[in-house]
Amino acid sequence: MRLECDGMALGCNSLIELRDAIATGKVSAVDAVRAYLDRIERYNKKLFAFREVYADSALARARQVDAGESRGRALAGVPVAIKDCMCSTEGTTACSSRMLANYRSPFTATAVQKLIDAGAIVLGRTNMDEFAMGSSTEHSAFGRTLNPWNTDCVPGGSSGGSAAAVAADLCAAALGSDTGGSIRQPAALCGVIGLKPTYGRVSRYGLVAFASSLDQIGPFARTIPDAALMLSVIAGHDPLDSTSAPGNMDAFDVEQPVQNLRIGIPAQYRSDANHPAVSAAWDEAIAVYQDAGAKIVEVELPHTEYGIPVYYIVATAEASSNLARYDGVHYGHRAQNPADLIDLYCKSRSEGFGDEVKRRIMLGTYALSSGYYDAYYNRALKVRRLIKQDFDNAFFQGRGCDAILCPSTPGPAFKFGEKMDDPLAMYLNDVYTVNSNLAGNASISLPGGFVEIDGKRLPLGVQLICPAFEEAKLLRIARMHEKATGYTQHRPPLDV
Ligand code: GLN
Repeated sequence: MRLECDGMALGCNSLIELRDAIATGKVSAVDAVRAYLDRIERYNKKLFAFREVYADSALARARQVDAGESRGRALAGVPVAIKDCMCSTEGTTACSSRMLANYRSPFTATAVQKLIDAGAIVLGRTNMDEFAMGSSTEHSAFGRTLNPWNTDCVPGGSSGGSAAAVAADLCAAALGSDTGGSIRQPAALCGVIGLKPTYGRVSRYGLVAFASSLDQIGPFARTIPDAALMLSVIAGHDPLDSTSAPGNMDAFDVEQPVQNLRIGIPAQYRSDANHPAVSAAWDEAIAVYQDAGAKIVEVELPHTEYGIPVYYIVATAEASSNLARYDGVHYGHRAQNPADLIDLYCKSRSEGFGDEVKRRIMLGTYALSSGYYDAYYNRALKVRRLIKQDFDNAFFQGRGCDAILCPSTPGPAFKFGEKMDDPLAMYLNDVYTVNSNLAGNASISLPGGFVEIDGKRLPLGVQLICPAFEEAKLLRIARMHEKATGYTQHRPPLDV
């Protein structure tokens, strides 16, 4: 059966519209939650965007909102989703891994709690690559999530469930986490907005750690004002995360275009490996800013090509350390009938982790081993510094760019299985996203157009990168593109 996606639930075209409809009593929070639960019922069996749905508690919360409990709050009554790596006292925080399949968190992540405190209603948690390692959501231990634009294709990853849920309108917005591109890459492949805030902008307390110097939580949304609102709710200092930055982030006006805008175009991102449609979407975005009066300047990011190797040393090294806690004793799946303690560790980890996670742990352990620490890990840290320097040169020294504009990914969504036997090909999907994590700056993927493949439209993403803590400017610049192109208005046909 082929169904045209019928716009957003309840005819609202954005989270803010829905929020306002609830606030003014045009729609009740219970109706909003029911409308989304109906859509989840209809589409999720096939798409598998949600791994767990909390229908009863969502309806109970909605009744409280309708009784006036969250009146005046920023997200009162708005149904949202969280990624499976975010702790909450509801359900299981499984990180889409067998290892944590039965893990019930005794606490709730700060970012999730902030959504709840703002009146949002958590509908459930979304599928992901196990421990956020992957670019296709094929590494989930619970099954794969389908791309709502073409169900033969991956939604991207690792936050593929959140991206697909927002694209298919199974929630008004969602949270994801981005260590090397896991918000921006699936956002690009699913035709929605994905924002990776500055490292430290959003608390990581209660986010199951993958690579602690890179991980950041951020929103998926369908419009830039929605993304800005979600960010202003979840951002801010948290004494429970020692790396969270001081100061809160108040709601800000994204409608003001940036004057005297300077957009940097990195020469190193022009590659034969880019799909022609990706280059075309990039060129179109450049023209959009040119038409808006921006000055377009060529910038050099000469260490770009080292991003993937540096990332796969730093991220795996940190992962091997972070994942040491899953031994069947402290945390995680516990094997039955072990011969002794070592056997218990061995069996528990062998049974609990999937192949990609094992590969990362082995790579990281190797990079940190005494004979290789300097050659790999220390060296990678030095090159990481050079990558950060490249961005600083483009933003501050001489070139003075407000933002860098580039593709989000080298190509559109790919088919299931296409890259599963070739980890390097999978890793290269993040070639344009990892450097922002290594440098710790703020970046966003926006819907940038479409390409038709096999008779079906697939979305393309363009990426904007700003200096650290410049999210307000980043979103204003992104809003200029959104207004000029209208690409965020497109909805996928749902073949289910
Ligand atoms: N795809 C990258 C990886 O596999 C990034 C993942 C992420 O950002 N969590 O590590």
